[in-house]
Amino acid sequence: MGPQDQPDYVNAVAAFETKLEPLLLLDLLQTIEQEHGRLRERYWGPRTLDLDILLIDNRTIDNERLKVPHPGIELREFVVIPLAEIAPELDLPNGKSVKSLALSIPDNELRILAPAPSFT
Ligand code: ATP
Ligand code: CA
Ligand code: CA
Repeated sequence: MGPQDQPDYVNAVAAFETKLEPLLLLDLLQTIEQEHGRLRERYWGPRTLDLDILLIDNRTIDNERLKVPHPGIELREFVVIPLAEIAPELDLPNGKSVKSLALSIPDNELRILAPAPSFT
């Protein structure tokens, strides 16, 4: 079973500041997932909520529980496109620019439900 087999789902990317250490942030996100009744029926299966850490500043973290940048970023248009909406000028720690990743994505079946709010 792959991600293609599941029903439509909504993705969003948010940026925020925190004083939490990365693993404590992961703990918090996993607590929120559980509070939303997430059931781990199978890997890649449909779920009510999935909160992933994409990037933390320009850091690289590689341990058992946490990999940053999230290994899927560049491969997933549903991540790169909303990320580019809020942070087009950002570069990943490997030097690739978010804007260039977003522009390199061919036509897809993504539909934008809500444009990124403007804070300016
Ligand atoms: P994917 O990570 O490919 O998007 P997934 O989100 O479906 O898959 P989960 O079952 O939600 O995978 O998470 C499995 C484990 O991934 C978590 O328990 C967590 O320890 C680990 N993990 C590693 N890096 C990250 C990260 N950057 N953000 C969130 N979880 C991570
Ligand atoms: Ca995920
Ligand atoms: Ca996850």
